[in-house]
Amino acid sequence: MKRTETRAIDVNGVKIGGQDKVVIQSMTNTKTKDVEKTVAQIQALEERGCEVIRVAVLDGEDAKAIKDIKERIHIPIVADIHFNPDLAIKAIESGVDKIRLNPGNIEDEAKIKEVVTLAKAHHIPIRIGINSGSLNKKYEKSEVSMIESAKDHIRILEALDFHDICLSFKSSDPLETIRAYRLASETFPYPLHLGVTEAGGLLDSTIKSSLALGSLLLDGIGDTIRISISDDPIKEIAVAKKLLKACGLYKNVPTLISCPTCGRIQYDMLPIVKEMEEYLDTLDKDIKVAIMGCAVNGPGEAKGADIGIAGMKDSALLFKKGTIIKTIPQADIIKVLKEEIEKF
Ligand code: SF4
Repeated sequence: MKRTETRAIDVNGVKIGGQDKVVIQSMTNTKTKDVEKTVAQIQALEERGCEVIRVAVLDGEDAKAIKDIKERIHIPIVADIHFNPDLAIKAIESGVDKIRLNPGNIEDEAKIKEVVTLAKAHHIPIRIGINSGSLNKKYEKSEVSMIESAKDHIRILEALDFHDICLSFKSSDPLETIRAYRLASETFPYPLHLGVTEAGGLLDSTIKSSLALGSLLLDGIGDTIRISISDDPIKEIAVAKKLLKACGLYKNVPTLISCPTCGRIQYDMLPIVKEMEEYLDTLDKDIKVAIMGCAVNGPGEAKGADIGIAGMKDSALLFKKGTIIKTIPQADIIKVLKEEIEKF
């Protein structure tokens, strides 16, 4: 798939934009000044495949904590700052790798200049984050206003000869999100950070994010993504990876194929799917696993997978790369599947 060309930024070694790869981000929900908890959450996210992490910076203590956090994590860290330029300065002094800040929200021009000069000196990119719900009062809520609002902020940075910029245009309405990013992609050369904001819990967010971000990604739009879920951020990474894989933009994540089951089923399949889904989410493997209900449609899918089963009476047939290997009794199915996947 041909991706839209954007001007790449470098977030401490992680390139965003100007390439086919879409970088996966998340945001901690701990108090940033609670270094232990924040580090533990970031390490868990790193392990699952998070490539850039954002933390909220509400005060000087949060900004200071970035230094200690950075020493114990392995991915770039972004400071999320609203309105207060002094916090941006402190975060940069603490070694932050990128900041999210809308310069147009800062009235003190000398301060903006100070932040930008410091960001330049430290090679720190700035993300301008436009949210449809918090547009400047002079604008009516629409995707065109979101673009105009971004221009206001971008002008300030460009006037200071600062171009290490990334942009986001988030709305809680997936259709408005699509329209805004499409316009943005036609308007700006800068990389786009995709997201649907306030997307809800796991189910709602997965649907809205897949619709909005999936449409954009298939158009070649988007350089980095964050799936917002009102839940443990670990789930954001799983959804992001599965979405990117479904769009053909990510490899090392398993694909699970399973039927919805029907009256033909003769073994207890749903608990197996549930446990295997959780297990597969922990793996970095490009493997296709099929868990099918019966011998009617099951063998076709099971044969097409790397490892597959098709249900029989209180048992299942095991397929490896299309070949029947053996019959597994119900009680052993999960164990055998895990062993085969480990070996793959
Ligand atoms: S594979 Fe078999 S059990 Fe599953 S939905 Fe199809 S017919 Fe029903």
